[in-house]
This record gives sequence, C-alpha cells and structure tokens, in this order.
Amino acid sequence: MKTNLLGYPRIGEKRELKKANEAFWAGKISEDELFDVANTIRIHNWKLQKEANIDLLPSNDFSFYDQVLDFSFSVNAIPSRFAPIDNLSDMELYFALARGYQKNGIDITAVEMTKWFDTNYHYLVPEFTKNQSFKLRYNKALAEYQFAKNNGFETKPVLLGLITYLLLGKEKEDGFHRIELVENLLPVYKQIVQSLVDAGAKTIQIDEPCLVLDLTKTEKEAYKQVYTILKEAFPTTEFILTTYFGALEDNTDLALSLPLDVLHIDLVRAENQLDEILSKLPKDKKLSLGVVDGRNVWINDFQKSVTLIEKAQKALGIDHVLVASSCSLLHSPCNLEHENNEKILTPEIKQWLAFAKQKLVEISTIKSLVTNDLTEVQRETVTQNKKANDNRKTSKLIHDEDVKSRVGAITEKDAHRKSGFAQRQVIQEGALKLPLFPTTTIGSFPQTQEVRSWRANFNKGVLPLEEYETLLKKEIEESIRFQEDAGIDVLVHGEFERNDMVEYFGEQLKGYTFTKFGWVQSYGSRCVKPPIIYGDVSRPTPMTVRWSQFAQSLTSLPVKGMLTGPVTILQWSFVRDDQPRSVTCTQIALAIRDEVVDLEKAGIKVIQIDEPAVREGLPLRRKDWEAYYNWAIRAFRISASGVEDSTQIHTHMCYSEFNDMIEAIADMDADVITIECSRSQMDLLDVFAEFKYPNEIGPGVYDIHSPRVPSVEEMTFLMEKAIGVIPKRNLWINPDCGLKTRHWEETKKALVAMVDTAKELRAKYNA
Ligand code: GLN
Ligand code: ZN
Repeated sequence: MKTNLLGYPRIGEKRELKKANEAFWAGKISEDELFDVANTIRIHNWKLQKEANIDLLPSNDFSFYDQVLDFSFSVNAIPSRFAPIDNLSDMELYFALARGYQKNGIDITAVEMTKWFDTNYHYLVPEFTKNQSFKLRYNKALAEYQFAKNNGFETKPVLLGLITYLLLGKEKEDGFHRIELVENLLPVYKQIVQSLVDAGAKTIQIDEPCLVLDLTKTEKEAYKQVYTILKEAFPTTEFILTTYFGALEDNTDLALSLPLDVLHIDLVRAENQLDEILSKLPKDKKLSLGVVDGRNVWINDFQKSVTLIEKAQKALGIDHVLVASSCSLLHSPCNLEHENNEKILTPEIKQWLAFAKQKLVEISTIKSLVTNDLTEVQRETVTQNKKANDNRKTSKLIHDEDVKSRVGAITEKDAHRKSGFAQRQVIQEGALKLPLFPTTTIGSFPQTQEVRSWRANFNKGVLPLEEYETLLKKEIEESIRFQEDAGIDVLVHGEFERNDMVEYFGEQLKGYTFTKFGWVQSYGSRCVKPPIIYGDVSRPTPMTVRWSQFAQSLTSLPVKGMLTGPVTILQWSFVRDDQPRSVTCTQIALAIRDEVVDLEKAGIKVIQIDEPAVREGLPLRRKDWEAYYNWAIRAFRISASGVEDSTQIHTHMCYSEFNDMIEAIADMDADVITIECSRSQMDLLDVFAEFKYPNEIGPGVYDIHSPRVPSVEEMTFLMEKAIGVIPKRNLWINPDCGLKTRHWEETKKALVAMVDTAKELRAKYNA
C-alpha cells in the first residue's frame, strides 16, 4: 500500500517565496537569486515528504505564481495583447501575465483572476480565442521532474487535467465553446507526457477536479475522448486521476470508465461516495483515498481513516489502495512547529491542530496503522492523536452550553425584522431625513503608512494604549470633518483601528484563536492567515460600539456602524470540523446580532453588515445551493433582525456575479445593499431591475481598485444608467468598495466629485 501526496505548499514556511517574488519585482534581486529561493523551497519540501515516508512525492506542484498560469504559459496560451512584450525574458513575461505590464509607454492589463473552486485560492483565468492554437513553449513539468531527479528525488509529476484546464478558462470571442479546443490542445499535452515518460517518470498525476462539478453531455464526452487517446498512447505509464473538493455523484460512472490506472477521491469532503465507488471500481484499477484534510487545520481522526481504508482494502485487495491527502496541501499552513507563542496559541488548542508538515506524518502513520507495522515514534503519534481527539470532544474551551442553548432557542421571528421593507422605508425616511440619492462610502478610509505604523507599534508594545487611541481618535475626527465638508450624507468612522475585517472581530470573539505563521497562499505573493474557529462562538463584550459612538459624538449627521457579517466571518476563517458549518455560522450570527443591538442602543441609526463572501461559499453543485442559502441567508437575517424598524441595515458585496443569486440577496432583506458596479458599467444592475429588487441599492460609481479619480460626467453617466432601471427613491451613490488601499489625495477628489454628481442629479430630478 502506497502513501500518496497530491501537492504541497509552495510559499515556504516563513513566506520566503513571497518575499523573493516581491524583491524580484522591485528589481532588488536577480532571476538567479529568485530561482535559488524557489529551489531551496522545493528541495526542503521533498525532503520533508521523504522523511515522512511519503511514497509518491509530487513535482510540478510548485509555482512562482499560480499553477493554472503555469499551464497556460507552458502551452503558449498567451493573450495577443501581450505581443508587444514578447521579447522579455520568460520570467518577466510570466509575471507580466500575472500582474499586468506598465512600462515604456506600454500598458497591458493582467490576466483576470478568480477563485479556485470553493477555496480562497485564486487562479489566473485562461483566455481562449476561437482558433486558439497551442504549442509547447516551456516544459515546466519536465524541468521540475528533472530538477527533483538531479537532487535525488524520484517524483510523480502533477499535470493539470486537460479538460479541467479548458473548463476553467473563458472564451474571449463569440462563436465557439472552449471545450472544442480539445483537438488543438491534446497533441501538446501528449508531447508533455511523452517527455516525462522519456525522462523516466513512471507515475503521473492528472488533476481533474471538474469531475465533481455539474457537467454537460459534451464535456463528459470530451473526458472520454481525451483520456482514451492518452492512455492508448502511454499504455505502460501509471496515471492517477485525481478528483477533489466534492463527490463524483452523477459523474461516477464516467470517472470509472476512463481508462486511467488509479482514481483518487476526496473522502474528507465526500465520504459517502466510497461505497458506490467500491462496488463499481473495475478490478484492474486502484483507488487513492483522500483521508487527510488538505483544506483545514485539524488533526486527523485515525480511527475513522483506518476504518475507511480497511473497508476499501477488503473490497479491492491491499495493493489496490493508496492512502492520501484529500487534495493538495496548498490550502494548509506549512508547519505547526513554528507556533511556539503560548499566549497566541495555547497548548491545549495546539494539540488539536495539524499543518502541512504534520499532515505528511499523519498520512504515513495511517498506513502503518493499517499494515500493522507502527514504529516506536509512530506509536507515540497515535497515542497523542487519540488523547488530543478525546480531549477535543469534551474540552470546556470548545463547548459552551449557553451558546448551544441560545442557538437551539432561535425562532422564525428572530430571523425577521418587525415590519416588511415597505413600512420600514417610510419609517426610516422619517427618521433619517436623507436627500434623494443619498451619498455614503463603504467603510474604510485610507490605511496610511502612518496608521499602520501606529498599530504595529502598539502591538509591539512600544506605543501605549492611550497614545494609540488618541492617534486613532484624531484620525477619526479628521475623517468626519472631511466627510462633513465634502457633503456626504451618511458618514463612516473609517475603520482605522482594524487590521482586517475578519481578524478584527475574531480577536474579540470567544471560540477564536490565531497563529503567527499560519499563512496560506491567496494569489501570487499574497498570503492570508485565516483565524481559527475552534469552539462555540460568542461575544463577551461589545466590539465596535466605542469607536462608532465616538465618531457619532462628533457630528449631527448619521454615522454608519460597520460590521462584518456571519457568512463572511465563517468563509474567511479555518472552521471547526466537529459540527456543521451552518451551526457555527448561526453562532457567529448571534454574536453579530448582539453587536447590532448594542450599536442601536448607543444611538447608531444606520448599521452596515458586510457580506462580500456570500457568493464564494456557494456549493459546487447547483442542487446544494438552496440548502446553503437556507442557512447562510438566515444567518445574515438573524444578525440583522434584532433592531427597530427605524434603524437602517445596510449590507455590502463586491466582485459578485448576481445573476443566479438575486433571489437570495433579496431574501437577505437589508434596507440598503451597496455593490460593485462601476467596472461592469452598471450592467450588473439589469439583474436587479429585471427581478424588481424591492429594497434600496447603492451601485458603486467609483472604481476603488485604481488611483484614477472618476469625473462627475462619468459618475453621472453611470447613475443615469441606474436611474433608467431602478426607482429613484431607492438609489444611493457610493464607491464600489472600501477605500483602505487608496491614498487620501485621490480619495478626497473622487468623493467630492461623487457628491457633486449627487447634487447635479438632485437638481435635475427633484424639481
Ligand atoms: N467595510 C469594508 C471596507 O470598507 C468592506 C470591505 C469589503 O467589502 N471587502 O473596507
Ligand atoms: Zn467590497
């Protein structure tokens, strides 16, 4: 029985790759120096894997930026707008694709980025034209295989599956579907495989996570066609077809019919698929069982994993089963050993956790448990694992009876405002007396170098609390004065005290813990350090009231309270796996509800609950959407429904495609929703118009992702478009998103222009 690893984090245990990439981009290190860092990481990873007794070590799982971009680059799927810089070095062109290029009068926008399935990792979207041709430009898979070999590691090259690659892309021209490009791509794909086989690769991993999605008939046929041809061409190579992030479901028969030698399935996400697959798996195939969670931070339940593997063994025979990570460990932090600050992460909680390095050991320990040849060290790991899991089941840190009974006592009424929107709108108009087309912003104001240095110094202990708060108050006061002068109608305090919209709340909630080095790659050199929800969540004391109250005390205009919503807090954290996500989300909802009620009591009349991550929590299969919406939207409503009708609840979402979720958004019943809109030139609004979205809406008119200051004409043009489809009474004017990444200079100009836009429109339409 072999141990199988699908992939490993590439950022380095102390984010060495991030730092090297950024130094290279800044021209501070050479290409050779960048490669040195990458090579050190790669060798370090294989060494760890080898030491942990992993049999199938992955190669080509490393990437300087993104594995999908790597593939596009390898097969020369480079959009034609990059032609003017085709003379750059490979490395420079590669990064130009990822980051855009602005030099010597040339201005080329980067390749679009989007989320990798339902993870927080972003890949670069392949762009295809109708007659897209492919050729082998740079054989990265081969280079990495040989690099490993030269360093004494025999590896299993990882290739992005041809069909998944095409399906993840986008057509940039009308008149074709990207799946039709199979014919053009297959010869190059074969060429890559041939080169690996020639170099001595015996086993090749082909990642086809699209097999857990809803597929059309044509797509299914393409799978058959491609892999039949590929296997015919390489009869003696062992191919592992990997699926992850979900169950094969109606694609089970398809996956089993593909003539590849090993099928990998994700048993962490989809344990239930095992029985059917065991009963149907052809005798000549092997099965790789993903039992160690590649996407979360909890230790494995060895007992459970062993049971699953033994079941498979009984059905298939011992040498037909592999023990594996559920997916690539790309989505796990690197190494728990670095977490030695007991004040940040207590030993009791730490024993429940396993990061990538620890997961390697788990994989091989599970194998030894099954084959009954535990070493002394492994025996200790098993004892420790059992103790920790037992402790986790009963720990007082985790289980809070008050929270559990409160969740149990929630009624339908708790998820509804007192009156319907039509009534609330009238009451709020009376209470807030806002003009037509009220202006507001999304919450954060520029987090200047200065503001960040205060926080850093405060955290280091060199800036006393009192001084830190005095500085923040001064900053808040300045922002309030600016907003008053500019003529904005609903103000914000600016969120200067917050580092991150989830971490800030996590730090104040019970049931949350943090790490120092628990980084995972989000995209390119950007890493995130998601906080960890280990126990029942509650809010011991108010979290934002003091700052909101302070800001409100400075002005007679309404200041919005700013909160992050329960779904977003859940989505951007590592979530406990010992209860359904829906339950954890409901607990967070109650904590936010308490905060909303306290803000209202403190005199805050407008409260925004941000939910930018509702869409990314959507299940991969359409049939599961409704169940998700049922608990996710309900959680938002629970958080928002504790207040009087006169209190205005806002929500905010960005980067969302609203087409297939408009009903759910309406169901959230926020009094006002602000959305990203300016890049799509208000096209997004059509969905709201068609649906006759009943509540108020603020379509973003100012693209905050660039330093560009939009003109009054542009914003008026956008607003006129909005006025064409949305009742005027329901329209707000605001930027696309928070302004924390901007500078004050452009922010001020843009917001003044935004208010001028509102004034012009009022003059025109109020008459
Ligand atoms: N209130 C947050 C801000 O303005 C919203 C951020 C977001 O939507 N991602 O920064
Ligand atoms: Zn936003």
